[in-house]
Amino acid sequence: MELPRIVAVGSGVISDLPQICSYLHLLGRGLIVTGPHTEEVVGKTVFELLEEGGYQPQTLISTASKLEEVDRAETMAREIEAGFLIGAGGGRSIDIAKIASMRMNIPFLSLPTAASHDGICSSQASLTVNGETVSLPAQSPLAIIADTRIIARAPARLLAAGCGDIISNYTAILDWELAHRLRDEEFSEYASALSAMTAKMIVERASDIRPGLEESAKIVLKALISSGVAMSIAGSSRPASGSEHKFAHSVNRIAPGRALHGELCGLGTIMMMYLHGKDWMMIKQALSQVGAPTSADQIGLDGETVVKALINAHKIRPERYTILDSGLNRMAATRAAEVTGVI
Ligand SMILES: [Zn+2]
Repeated sequence: MELPRIVAVGSGVISDLPQICSYLHLLGRGLIVTGPHTEEVVGKTVFELLEEGGYQPQTLISTASKLEEVDRAETMAREIEAGFLIGAGGGRSIDIAKIASMRMNIPFLSLPTAASHDGICSSQASLTVNGETVSLPAQSPLAIIADTRIIARAPARLLAAGCGDIISNYTAILDWELAHRLRDEEFSEYASALSAMTAKMIVERASDIRPGLEESAKIVLKALISSGVAMSIAGSSRPASGSEHKFAHSVNRIAPGRALHGELCGLGTIMMMYLHGKDWMMIKQALSQVGAPTSADQIGLDGETVVKALINAHKIRPERYTILDSGLNRMAATRAAEVTGVI
């Protein structure tokens, strides 16, 4: 099990960065991977804090979630003989730092600027390879520093998407249980219980989750981190990724870049709950309460794209057994999307 050693969530925790680095006995220079926008939001502050701590930082501004960017980060880290990497930003910067640091066998710290998906704490990274989003093995962060003052200022859409990514644990676990019963796949009671509790907490507190509030950011961050811990316990993304994630990736194959990961996972969860014969209305209501989309037109997707994505979703990561198994036919896919009001 690979777990973070320090998880700091709260208002202003970014200022503890030098102390955290020293507590973790980090040595050498720190390479900060950030984006053009997040450089302003957080990158410059991280730079100053590391400088104060004597870590002679260097910044790399990355603009794309591509393997070439990982190569670039690795090259720069080797050039400056970095002792550790910090991914400061949304998913992209964190994922790049996560893979580059693993290749170099040095630690990495995660400093998210939004609570939009569980990649901020997981050991998986997603990158675009040959135009497709793929999940790659990486390492878990040694520390997560999630400053709610910064994260509460992120666009509302990102927080709602984060809730979608957590709520997707419902169907991920149902799929996992199915795979355990039908395929004798290894199953972790602890990981599934933690993942289920995390998703339930978001559903129960959905009406308290509002954009712009530090308290809301904290609820969602803690849930994302718990999901990440569940994945670490399981040693795979199983507890937090099932048929609903296949649907999300399938949409991205057909209509890349239209919606956020968590938004698509949320829509997928509504339909996969229906296919599992479970309470999909509860999922839909919670998503709507947090301000996440519950229908395709809210994110500019047409009905045909949704149906096509459903029909083809089982081709994504086929070794991962889910309710979709060998696939839905057109009639069944259309019915699942229509009955649930997704289209
Ligand atoms: Zn996800």
